[in-house]
Amino acid sequence: MRNAAIDHFDARAVFRGLLDGVDYRNRVAGTCIYRCPRCEHRIRFRWRSFYRANGRSIFQRQLRRIFDDLTPSLPSDEQGFLDFYCPACAAPTRIIFSAQDYSKIAYHFDIYAALVGEAKRAK
Ligand SMILES: [Zn+2]
Repeated sequence: MRNAAIDHFDARAVFRGLLDGVDYRNRVAGTCIYRCPRCEHRIRFRWRSFYRANGRSIFQRQLRRIFDDLTPSLPSDEQGFLDFYCPACAAPTRIIFSAQDYSKIAYHFDIYAALVGEAKRAK
């Protein structure tokens, strides 16, 4: 697998429905829409999608390592990622976000970027 085949997309390039505030950017509020940059397929994510993603990946070890190498460290308390294959074109995709613990029982999730590999099949 070639690293060069994985591209970085800023949150605003692939998401709709994120909120900006005085002290935050690209925050998930309720739901947001992700559009695959390889095939235009749209996926609706909910707040709990990011909550459940914590620390897990469906990628095999080799692929996960490649994505890990490309994942920056964000200046936030906690950082998470959500790994999946696009259901339409099967491009391996990682959404990188920061998690702000604001009440001990709940989090704000701010999307940073998406890393997207090559499409594996035509839509
Ligand atoms: Zn796709």
